[in-house]
This record gives sequence, structure tokens and C-alpha cells, in this order.
Amino acid sequence: MSEIKNIAVLTSGGDAPGMNAAIRAVIRAGIYHGINMYGVRRGYSGLVTGEIIPMDAKSVANIIQRGGTILKTARCDEFRTVEGRKKAYENIKKLNIQALVVIGGDGTFTGADKFIQEFDIPIIGIPGTIDNDLAGTDFTIGYDTAINTVVDAVDKIRDTAESHDRLFVIEVMGRDSGLIALRSGISTGAEAVLIPELTVDYHAIMTRLDKSRANKSSRIVIVAEGDNEGGLVVGEKIKENFPHYDVRVSILGHIQRGGKPSCMDRVLASRLGVAAVEGLLEGRRGEMAGIIAGEIAFTPFSKAIKHINEVNTNLTRIVEILSL
Ligand code: ATP
Repeated sequence: MSEIKNIAVLTSGGDAPGMNAAIRAVIRAGIYHGINMYGVRRGYSGLVTGEIIPMDAKSVANIIQRGGTILKTARCDEFRTVEGRKKAYENIKKLNIQALVVIGGDGTFTGADKFIQEFDIPIIGIPGTIDNDLAGTDFTIGYDTAINTVVDAVDKIRDTAESHDRLFVIEVMGRDSGLIALRSGISTGAEAVLIPELTVDYHAIMTRLDKSRANKSSRIVIVAEGDNEGGLVVGEKIKENFPHYDVRVSILGHIQRGGKPSCMDRVLASRLGVAAVEGLLEGRRGEMAGIIAGEIAFTPFSKAIKHINEVNTNLTRIVEILSL
């Protein structure tokens, strides 16, 4: 029988579609198991300032389909300091909160790991980030929705590119990871994809662009924002080297973070929310709940936050083969 009677949940770092579905799952799973549930507003900032509210089954009604996060999210510098984390601990102690579920990315889990070591509070993490850059889960919550948003936008750009015989450079999100760029590139038939994990070989890319079918009307080059140069510079370089192309640059920006979560993200968030609460009640702590090959898996924070810098060469090869 678990000692835990009160659990709080928060969302932290960059927002991702499906965070609401995860909050809903955590709150309802807790209530199902007889736990008093709390929500912390604005991520770790709310822990430090004491913005912690009781939540019931009704307070998460009608949110599974909503983008963003009803609890709001924030980046909190104070939590990076021992004094900040001490304030956070005192606030949760006042309410007798005995465990936390944190929904976020690698920064969120790094902070959680320190908090556990200093104050011995059980915490389970749920991967909520559009970047899909955490180890210990095949997919993070928000990634599927974000790539579908990118695909929808690129399809629309392809229509106008095709009508005007243009080459579009499209910058997508991914500071350290090219996974949004790679998958969306494959599914939109992009001619080239530039990602931060690989050094750009301009010569090879440009030769390929020029050599690819002469009668192509449009060309799409997808660039992850973390690529050394970004979309604008890549656009300039292509213009300099290929004056015969009519080049345009489009930066998709924050639309990639918003919108209704896809079915896949809602199911993922629901499964991980339940797993996180049940994990805490079974005595787990300091781990991220994820799904590997269809099954729930728990991975220590220290392993989950290791960036996956290995490029999936199967995917880069597919872009090259299919862009003839
Ligand atoms: P995303 O991947 O979407 O950006 P994230 O969780 O990595 O999400 P960050 O802004 O890196 O987002 O981290 C969220 C918060 O976690 C930070 O604002 C800070 O409060 C806390 N945090 C991050 N790194 C540390 C650290 N080294 N020590 C303590 N707290 C940290």
C-alpha cells in the first residue's frame, strides 16, 4: 500500500500539443486511485511561488482535444538555484504534497533529478516536447501533431511552388534534433533535408538539386532551425549558386507548437498519464514514463535526457532515393 496520498502535476519548458490530454490523464488516474490531486501553474515557477491548486475530475473536463496547456508553462531560472528549489520544496510541504508528475523535456527532467536528490521527493516525468529528442520513448507527446502541422503547411507551399516553378526553403523547428525535418521531409517529398546532426555538404545538395529531374516544376528544401545556418542563409546560398532558381524562404515558426493534438498524441498522453501515477504508487521515482515498441517503459531521468544525436540514416537515405 503506497504512503502517497497527495500528488501534484505541472507542465514545464516548451509547450506541446497533447499536454492537456496528459494533465487530464494524470488527474483522473490519481482520483481513480483515491489520491488528492493538485495542479501547479507555470511549471517550476508555480512551485517556487506557491501557485498550486486542488484539481478534481471536472477541472480537466473537455480539455483532451485542446492544444497548449491549461496549467500554463514557463521557463524558471530560480528553480536552477538551490534557494529556488528550497522554496519549491517548502511550498509543496505546506500542502503535504508527497509526489510530483512533471510533463516536459530534457531541461524539466534535469531540474527534477536535482530536486529528488536534494529533497527526496518522488517524481515521475512524462515526455512532452514536439522535438522527439528524448531517449526511453519511441515518441514524445506533441511530436506527431507537430509533424502533421508541418506536412499540412508544406503541402500548401508545394501548391504555390508548383504553380510558379519555385524552389522553397522551409525552416521547421528542431534546435538540436532533425527529427521533425526528416519525417516531414519524407512525407512531403522534399528534395533535400538539412539537419543539425549532419554537416551540410552544400556542393552535394546543390548538385543533387540541379541534377534531379530537369522537368520538375517545384523543389522543396526543409531546414531544421538548429541547422548551423537556418533557412534564410540556406536560401541565400542557393540563390547565389543557382541564379536560375526562383527561390523563396518560409519559416513556419510557432504554428508548429499549437493546434488540436492528433489521435496518436491523445492516446500516448492518456497512456503515459496513467502510467506515471501508477508508477509513483508502485514506488517508482526519478524515471520518465515512455512507450517502447508499444509497451510502457520507465527510464531513469539521467538516461532519458541524453540527446539522441545518432541520425537515422535509413531516413536520410530515403529522402535521397526518392527525390529523383
Ligand atoms: P523543451 O525541450 O520543450 O524546451 P524543456 O523541459 O527542455 O522543454 P527547458 O526550458 O530546458 O525546457 O527546462 C524547463 C525548466 O526546467 C527550466 O526553465 C528550469 O526551471 C528547469 N531546469 C532546466 N535545466 C535545469 C537545471 N540544470 N537545473 C535545475 N533546473 C533546470
